[in-house]
Amino acid sequence: MSLETLTAAIRDIPDFPKPGIMFKDISPILQDGALFAEVIDIIGARYENQQIDSIVVIDARGFIFGSALAYKLGCGISLVRKQGKLPWKTYSVSYELEYGSAAVEIHIDAVSAGDRVLIVDDLLATGGTARAGADLIEKIGARIIALEFVIELSFLNGRDKLDGYTVNSLIEVSD
Ligand code: AMP
Repeated sequence: MSLETLTAAIRDIPDFPKPGIMFKDISPILQDGALFAEVIDIIGARYENQQIDSIVVIDARGFIFGSALAYKLGCGISLVRKQGKLPWKTYSVSYELEYGSAAVEIHIDAVSAGDRVLIVDDLLATGGTARAGADLIEKIGARIIALEFVIELSFLNGRDKLDGYTVNSLIEVSD
C-alpha cells in the first residue's frame, strides 16, 4: 500500500460536526477490505516480536482499528469510553475541549499494573482525548508502549500533550 492510496481513501467533510472543522472520514478505508487489512498489518508489524498484553481502544473509531489489531497481535482490548457508558466500577479523567470539558472512563480492572499496552485511536487532533486515555492507564499503573493513530493533524500539535510517549501515525496532515 502506498501512503497516497491510503490518503486518497480519507474523505474530507468540511464543517462537520460544526463550522470550521474539516472532518476526516475513515469510512472508505473500512469499506475496502484490502486497505483496512494493510493498515492493520503495517501497525501490527511494529509489535510482531513484542509482548503486548492489551490494546486500549478509544471510543468510538479507535474500537474498530484497535480490535482488528488485537486480533492480529493475539491480545485483548480494553475500552476507554465517554462518561456514563461503562457499567462496572471506573476510573475517570476529565479533559478540556475547545468549549467546555469532557470525561473518559475505563473499568478499574480493564488492565493490570505492569501490563504492556498500546493505545489506539483513528485520529490525533489536539491530543486531549489520547492524553486522558494515557492518564487512565497511568492511574492503573500499566505501561504504555506506544500510542498508534491512523491520521495525525500535526498542525494541532497533539504530540506536545503526549510528551515522553512513543507516538506513531500513518498519515500526517500538516495544514
Ligand atoms: P483530540 O482530543 O482533539 O485529539 O481529538 C481526537 C478525537 O476526536 C479522536 O477520537 C477523533 O476520532 C476525533 N476527531 C477530532 N478531530 C477530528 C477530525 N478533524 N476528523 C475526525 N475525527 C476527529
